[in-house]
Amino acid sequence: MSTLILGGGVTGLAAAWHLQQRGEAVEVWEAGATVGGWMKTLPWEGGHFETGPQGVLWQKGTAVDRLFSAIDLPFKSPGTGARWVGKGGRLIPVPASPVGLMTSPLMPLGAKLRMMLEPFQPVRPGEPEEGLSAFITRRLGKGVATELLPSMIAGVLAAPAEILSVDAIPKLRQWEATGSLVNGIRKGGVSHMVVPEGGMGQLPIRLAAKLASVRAGLRAERLEALPDGRWRASGGGEIREADRVVLALPAYEAAILLGSAAPQSAEALAAIPYTSVDLWHSRHAPLPALKDSFGFLIHPPEGRGYLGSLVPSWMDPQSAPEGLMQLRSFIGGAFGKPADLETWEGIQARLKFWIPSLGEPVATRHERAERAIPRPELGHRARVKMAVEGLPAGLDWLSNARFGPGVRDILEGLETWVA
Ligand SMILES: Cc1cc2nc3c(=O)[nH]c(=O)nc-3n(C[C@H](O)[C@H](O)[C@H](O)COP(=O)(O)OP(=O)(O)OC[C@H]3O[C@@H](n4cnc5c(N)ncnc54)[C@H](O)[C@@H]3O)c2cc1C
Repeated sequence: MSTLILGGGVTGLAAAWHLQQRGEAVEVWEAGATVGGWMKTLPWEGGHFETGPQGVLWQKGTAVDRLFSAIDLPFKSPGTGARWVGKGGRLIPVPASPVGLMTSPLMPLGAKLRMMLEPFQPVRPGEPEEGLSAFITRRLGKGVATELLPSMIAGVLAAPAEILSVDAIPKLRQWEATGSLVNGIRKGGVSHMVVPEGGMGQLPIRLAAKLASVRAGLRAERLEALPDGRWRASGGGEIREADRVVLALPAYEAAILLGSAAPQSAEALAAIPYTSVDLWHSRHAPLPALKDSFGFLIHPPEGRGYLGSLVPSWMDPQSAPEGLMQLRSFIGGAFGKPADLETWEGIQARLKFWIPSLGEPVATRHERAERAIPRPELGHRARVKMAVEGLPAGLDWLSNARFGPGVRDILEGLETWVA
């Protein structure tokens, strides 16, 4: 069996690695000059910054662990850092334990008591698809859905929880299926955030090095069915015929290629919206409060387009030069971006509002992540089903829009896909 994989992000490369392990002949085409898609670690005077993921959720014996071990990828965990939610004009610590949550000012007492009843809520059948906020309200109560969920979801998907499907976070339904979220989390165990040595970009680089054929700088432009049931892809002056073509691409890119080969799938994929986000990297004199900190997320109505800031120099000390603290601030997303957040001065003003002791930066850097994050709005399940079911034999589509937003979701989804 020969397979051509289009897209050399982590999804395409990890899929190729699995197929190669099974003894298949695989080639990967990547449109960009280098592999990795959003998962790239780029140099920045004396350190580096991430274009996409800051870390990945790892746990012993899971898909992430199995892949990292198989490709000998060294990684480290920063541990459990302090984190906050910005609300009511101040940063409120997110408690690390359920007991801590009971005494936290993050939610009113009634909301905390209702949350405790989660294990006793009946399990609802998976169909019909439920909204994310409705799911959390049903299981954990309105308090959690309105006071905690919005900032958490803005931090992952840069979008309002009210418009999303429960499928935006696939783990939720998986946990509920075990009887309750509490039970699911207890059974599944706790994951830790880890970062490969040298940054997240080392994962695609290491994967590509293990593959027999990876072509960077080659964009697929056309896909045609051959009379013998095989497929032909072409682009950049190259033509390749294969038994199977896997589109490991964002839905909107896959839709373009599938236009005439699989019109039903193309239509469904084109209807999956994506969110753009602005990322501002900045380096400052270290602050003791943020030294061992993951960062903070702002409760969305209050953030007015400022979603929060992470502390990459805590997660990955090599990212910043000695003696400096590195922040990464998330702006806009599906919440929109007010005019004051177009420039660093506006961002700095917002940062200083939440952390008054923060000094002026010694360096800043702006990156625009255009259509970077899928937005699984209510109806997502039907769109994915229609897309996958509409694919003719010999074509497949793999993506975080299918498996879930995080690297962990993708790697778990791929293990099931390849089985
Ligand atoms: C800002 C940001 C922060 C994130 N933070 C985290 C995090 O902390 N933890 C986490 O787990 N996840 C995080 N994620 C999500 C994670 O990065 C993504 O889920 C994952 O990287 C998606 O990988 P992918 O291969 O599916 O897609 P992509 O990375 O989009 O890769 C698709 C590839 O296909 C290529 N391509 C497109 N069209 C063609 C064509 N016609 N022919 C050939 N190649 C083509 C593109 O150039 C690209 O390289 C974050 C994402 C972003 C954007």
